[in-house]
Amino acid sequence: MASTAAGIKSKHNQARALVAQMTLQEKASLCSGKNFWFLEGVERLNLPSVMVTDGPHGLRKQNRQADHVGLNKSVPATCFPTASALASSWDLELLERVGVALGEQCVAEDVAVLLGPGLNIKRHPLCGRNFEYFSEDPLLSGKFAAALVNGVQSQGVGTSIKHFAVNNQEHARMFIDAIVDERTLREIYLRGFEIAVRESQPWTVMCAYNRVNGEYCSEHNWLLNNVLRDDWGFEGLVVTDWGATNDRVKGVDSGLDLEMPGSGGINDTLILEAINNGYLAEAALDRAVERNVALSLLGQDVHDNRLTADHPSHHHLAQQAAEQSAVLLKNDDKLLPLNTAATVAIIGAFAKRPRYQGTGSSQVNPTQLDNAWDAISAILPAEQLHYAPGYDPKTSVDDFRLIDEAVACAREADTVVLFAGLPTIFESEGFDRSHMDLPGQHNKLISAVCAANPNTVVVLSNGSPVRIPWIREPKAILEAYLSGQAGGGAVANLLFGIANPSGKLAETFALAQTDLPADKNFPGKNRQVQYREGPYIGYRYFDSADKPVLFPFGHGLSYTQFSYAEPQPSSAEFAQGETLSISVDITNTGAHAGAEVVQLYVKALRSAVYRPSHELKAFAKIHLAAGATGTVNLRLDDTSFRFFDQGHRDWVVEPGEYELQIGASSRDIRQVLNLQVNSTQQPSKVAKDIGGPLADNVFNVSDYTFAKMLNKPVPEPESSRPFHDNSSLQEVGETWLGARFKAKVAAGFKANMGGNSNDETLNKMFEEMANNMPMRGLALFSGGRTSMDDIRLMLALLNHRYLQAFKLWWKIRQAS
Ligand code: BGC
Repeated sequence: MASTAAGIKSKHNQARALVAQMTLQEKASLCSGKNFWFLEGVERLNLPSVMVTDGPHGLRKQNRQADHVGLNKSVPATCFPTASALASSWDLELLERVGVALGEQCVAEDVAVLLGPGLNIKRHPLCGRNFEYFSEDPLLSGKFAAALVNGVQSQGVGTSIKHFAVNNQEHARMFIDAIVDERTLREIYLRGFEIAVRESQPWTVMCAYNRVNGEYCSEHNWLLNNVLRDDWGFEGLVVTDWGATNDRVKGVDSGLDLEMPGSGGINDTLILEAINNGYLAEAALDRAVERNVALSLLGQDVHDNRLTADHPSHHHLAQQAAEQSAVLLKNDDKLLPLNTAATVAIIGAFAKRPRYQGTGSSQVNPTQLDNAWDAISAILPAEQLHYAPGYDPKTSVDDFRLIDEAVACAREADTVVLFAGLPTIFESEGFDRSHMDLPGQHNKLISAVCAANPNTVVVLSNGSPVRIPWIREPKAILEAYLSGQAGGGAVANLLFGIANPSGKLAETFALAQTDLPADKNFPGKNRQVQYREGPYIGYRYFDSADKPVLFPFGHGLSYTQFSYAEPQPSSAEFAQGETLSISVDITNTGAHAGAEVVQLYVKALRSAVYRPSHELKAFAKIHLAAGATGTVNLRLDDTSFRFFDQGHRDWVVEPGEYELQIGASSRDIRQVLNLQVNSTQQPSKVAKDIGGPLADNVFNVSDYTFAKMLNKPVPEPESSRPFHDNSSLQEVGETWLGARFKAKVAAGFKANMGGNSNDETLNKMFEEMANNMPMRGLALFSGGRTSMDDIRLMLALLNHRYLQAFKLWWKIRQAS
């Protein structure tokens, strides 16, 4: 089996030979999918049509009706914890094991590429899809993605790291223009992708829907060729996110190899025309086709190596992953672990109907689904357990009757375990959250129950941070995130000390939404979002500005304690181009076996350029028996000290004195080491002059400073009028004719997708997706039923260009 990380490259010779035998028509046809999930094949050359499918925390293989938002059922597969949960494990070995299991399931189902992992940076907690992403920190995002990719690809199956790049929100995701300076791009938004490419060579990269600095990612030569291929050495192919193609011909020229899903040949024709008219070099087409063919050849190997997946053992792994991922945020008076002699009131409908994954393209049909109630019932006898639902798990609308019932239940027991969180309607692919709060019913329930019984543990199920106004009321809080199909058993084990929490937050929990550095510029307006805060997101901002937070990045408690011995560096100084290793002895000083995540942050003590006060540069998780001591080794290299210099347009390791901070969170530093860094590189005058956003002033970065960061004037947003291919249905719907058109399309769109009007979350997702759909998308998603001429005819009418409309109408008529 071709299981090498070199993947696609290993098939290039064979692919080249096949491409040489193809007609132009065949080559153009290979540039887009055959349908929703399959690549095009060439029968006469025995080139198979292979399948790619979602991803990322489980396989979503649809056998019958296909859609890209998880509407129609898929084959049963293990639903692992989603990325926000997995990231909190800080456990690379675990991520790799999950990857291996995902790979095995792909092989069993004859799937050539799993569409994941997603590693966009959590710029703002309101991004509706944050549950699918790892962290606010690029080192963590990149390392976790690489571990997962290495696991999947070890099974001879490909991956697609996504969404490249700067897809940090759902609002207007198909056309929003993210305006970001190059330093912030390189250090934050691209860095995770860079790590994943360099350390795991994924077979494919999925380009994002949005634009970055004016260019659609699907035709972004700088991103796809200069950065991804030339700088990082990416050897695989670039596939569009589903329906992300803007200008397909420009895409081929700019390094976009595969368009998905198939658009019924709309773009194949344009490619052929461009070649015949000399606008596109055949060599550019051949390059794309060769990569696509190489992928199909690898897919053929998957087909030839079918095996059956071991679902019970994958379920067990999903439980271990959930145990490693939960974060114990608070544990006053050592309320946890719970005593098995006590009576316990289980409150909250999520205990029986868990919220365990997000809605949208990542939605898995689980092989089985555990819940905490059953798992706790297996630990405690029935007479020690009480239950009250407290809220409706779907809607969570206000209902005082349910609160009163829960309060009565809480009074009867020694201890309360209260399950709360975000119902599906609050977070999903396709739309962003509108605030950081839990449903009012959950907040009121928690306060009422805590007043009735202070021995309360709150277990949270949510994909992204929430505001916690009742922070002082319960004694303990366990953040379980969206913990997958085996999360129920994991939570029970953690509550009763059968497992010891060891998760650490991979993102900051802010006190209030208005504290967030990106808040003023999220999700943008007028088709544009400006990243004025630069690199200051998450702890990079909060720690630099010394601003209080609810829970800091890296935070997480355990039932035991750890002490950190003095760190031992392999050398007293660091020289540019070399590596340095720091070893630290960690001792478990408590009475329980447990695991500690040791974090190393680097601080430049006197820098000539603006820099966050410290940045995570290494970490390690160590498992220790009670009383045991072990050593972690943390490795540093140039990437630990460098910054991206806009003047040199290159990385610079600035010489000088640095501080290495080793600790248990970004705000719990246990050991500090000073280090001299020697380097021949110096920051450019441009980099020094920019000044940049001051950490405590990220909310008010002026046009002047932002323009300096961008090295050009702040661009004007693109107008939607006169209406064009990329005007959204919502924009078009602002006119009389457009409103009627939009209503018709939205109804058809929903019907085509098999929309279920009883499911509020799906309905909301549809509405938002339709609103944000650019006009061109209507043709691309129609599978050939609607042509771009049909769309342009409509646009001409909307723009009152009646002569043009008549000509298009005539053309369409002649063609049919
Ligand atoms: C999502 C991708 C997903 C694709 C296919 C898109 O809507 O953004 O992450 O892989 O659909 O389902």
